[in-house]
Amino acid sequence: MRAEGEPPTTDDTANRAYAGLGATFDLFLNAFGHDSIDGAGLPLTATVHYDEKYDNAFWNGEQMVFGDGDGELFLDFTIPVDVIGHELSHGFTQYSANLAYYGQSGALNEHVSDVFGTLVKQYALGQGVEQADWLIGAGLLGPAVDKGTALRSMKDPGTAYDDDVLGKDPQPGHMDHYVRTGSDNGGVHINSGIPNRAFYLLATELGGNAWERPGRIWYATMTGGELTEDARFSEFARVTVATARNLYDEATAEAVRRAWSGVGVPTS
Ligand SMILES: [Zn+2]
Repeated sequence: MRAEGEPPTTDDTANRAYAGLGATFDLFLNAFGHDSIDGAGLPLTATVHYDEKYDNAFWNGEQMVFGDGDGELFLDFTIPVDVIGHELSHGFTQYSANLAYYGQSGALNEHVSDVFGTLVKQYALGQGVEQADWLIGAGLLGPAVDKGTALRSMKDPGTAYDDDVLGKDPQPGHMDHYVRTGSDNGGVHINSGIPNRAFYLLATELGGNAWERPGRIWYATMTGGELTEDARFSEFARVTVATARNLYDEATAEAVRRAWSGVGVPTS
C-alpha cells in the first residue's frame, strides 16, 4: 500500500504502520548507530488489516503483522507507536542476544521490547524522562474497557488496568512479588514488570533522555555478546552494570546497580 518514500495513502492504518516502522528505524540508527533491526539494513515490511477484528500485532520472524482490533476491547494496533517499536524490537532481540522465550529469559525478551518500544515513542516525541508516560499501549484499549489506560506501565507495573472485562494488570514491580506460573510461557508478559521498573528507576535517576545513557547501556548489553540466551534477571543485571562501567564510569555503573537493587535483583 505504501513503499518507502511514497506519499501517504488514504488508509490511516497503513500510514500509521509506515510511520511506526520509520520511527523504530530512526531510533536504532540515530541513537545507537544500528542500521535497521538486524544491524544490516533489513527492509522493514508490514501487513495491515490482518484477519478480521484481530486483537494483536506481532513480528513473525520476517515482518510485522497488525490486526485491526475488535473495536470493543482493543482498537487498531497501529495506534500506539510504542507497540510498533515493541514488536519490531523482538526482531532486534532475535538478531542480537536471542533471549529464549520462556521464564526469566522470556520476561527479559519482553522487557527489552518494552524498553525499545517506549524509547521509540520518547525519541519520536522528543520527550525526556519526566515528560514520558512510561506506558506501553496507551490509546489501544477500546470502549468496553472502563478502567484502563494501557497494556503495561513501566513506572508502576500492575496499574495499567483493573477492569471487569480485562481483569487486573498482573505485573509485579519487585522480586518479592515474582509470579511463578506455567502459563504465558512462564509469565513472560507478567514478570517483565520487574526489569521494566528497574529501567524506569535508572532513567529517572540519570535524568535527561532515556535513549541516551540508559538506552545505550541496554543496547550494548544486547549486542555485546556477553549474555547467554537463557539469561536470568541477575545475569542480565550484572551485564548491564559491567556495560555501564565500560561505556561510562563507576558512578553510572553504581546507578544501574541501585536500579536493580530497587526491584530486588542482585548484581553481585
Ligand atoms: Zn512482546
